[in-house]
Amino acid sequence: MNICVIGLGYVGLTTGAVFSDLGNDVICVDVDEEKVSALAQGIMPIYEPGLREIVLRNRQEGRLVFTTDSEEAVRRSEIIFICVGTPPRDSGETDLSQVEAAAQSIARAMDSYKVVVNKSTVPVGTGDLVRQIIDRHKVKEVAFDVVSNPEFLREGTAVQDTIEPDRVVIGAPNKQVAMKLLELYATLERPMLITDVHSAEMIKYASNAFLAMKISFINAVADLCELAEADVTVVAKGMGYDHRIGREFLAAGLGFGGSCFPKDVESFVRTAEGLGYDFRMLKEVLSVNWGRVPQLLTRMERELGGLSGKTVGLLGLSFKPNTDDMREAKSLEIIGELLSRQADVKAYDPQAMENARRLVPQIKYCSSAYEVAEGADALVLVTEWREFKLLNMERIRDAMRSPVLFDGRNFYSPEKKTRMGFKYYGIGRGAEGTQW
Ligand code: NAD
Repeated sequence: MNICVIGLGYVGLTTGAVFSDLGNDVICVDVDEEKVSALAQGIMPIYEPGLREIVLRNRQEGRLVFTTDSEEAVRRSEIIFICVGTPPRDSGETDLSQVEAAAQSIARAMDSYKVVVNKSTVPVGTGDLVRQIIDRHKVKEVAFDVVSNPEFLREGTAVQDTIEPDRVVIGAPNKQVAMKLLELYATLERPMLITDVHSAEMIKYASNAFLAMKISFINAVADLCELAEADVTVVAKGMGYDHRIGREFLAAGLGFGGSCFPKDVESFVRTAEGLGYDFRMLKEVLSVNWGRVPQLLTRMERELGGLSGKTVGLLGLSFKPNTDDMREAKSLEIIGELLSRQADVKAYDPQAMENARRLVPQIKYCSSAYEVAEGADALVLVTEWREFKLLNMERIRDAMRSPVLFDGRNFYSPEKKTRMGFKYYGIGRGAEGTQW
């Protein structure tokens, strides 16, 4: 099939690359000229495991091309995927300006029947909005359909998630267009759900809000574990064996960040408000999440006897391991708090330092965890990259001014670290580990 993908971020680039790998001809469009010209030369704008190889292979074989010319791309395609960003406004509502601009560019170029598929995460009703925009701006009197096909991939495993999604949700206005999408996805042989457009849009937000709720729930349980001298890691394990609960998203820590959960939960709350429903449960999910970093800082301040003039080292900066994405990363919140308390901050991340440097140039970036440890009064494990499990922790301890370790992801064993001579702080880890 001839496919056009508009927006070359984590979602658009992965979607375009995987569809081309399945034998389709894919034209990828972005307004960012630098990004397009880099991709045309085989240079990746993002770090996503396994993606580079697929992009290079399909580009080489001529099935995957990159352009800034949306009109030509739309004209040559039958199915057009909108994968642009939907960032939050200050009010928490979703900024749909990129989606609106994409819809206008489709409308201007359409010269035959097109299927317009919205993959961006958008509030319920946005499919109707896209239809209205295209109707208003189309130059030729041609038919089109607007489909909602929400994306569930996770950064760090985006390629795998796109090839083997748990489910493909297709919110279609009629059977014929649903069949077209079914045909496109059929080769993946994954469960597919055909729904109306509104339900598909709602499935995405309800799913992300539910996962965020699991994280805030276990973080609240972690706080309770500290008071009760119980260990949240064991509690989560015991809960997770129950298949109705499941093991995933039950890791207590610094809370959720990233480009999706915080903005999607906020947006869902605003959408609910717009529909006359006060989603108090989700407001509490956000409130628990906002409390995580202040709680860490309070403990750190107490342990170090104030933070002014102290050197704090961060292990990990990206919002989660295996990505270079810094959007809404907890490290940014921690750095902001530390700098406002006049602490010196050093950090190392295997992939995200270039992106981080653009956002917070004023801290010291190190070439390894060992360099971070040198002269540090405390270390904070912010992102649980696998390489931090393999560190020589004796060397880390010896390099520090005082061996204080705040484990923001319950990544290390409290017993082992305490035995090694660290003052170890985990989250909700009961009598075994010192608590936050
Ligand atoms: P991103 O910000 O990384 O990329 C968006 C891209 O769209 C940018 O390259 C930008 O230049 C381009 N763009 C903006 N306006 C454009 C226009 N009019 N025409 C062409 N290109 C345009 O975004 P992302 O992380 O890939 O997310 C895209 C959407 O998918 C969002 O709605 C997001 O919520 C959703 N989503 C993201 C993830 C994720 O893990 N990142 C997962 C599921 C769903």
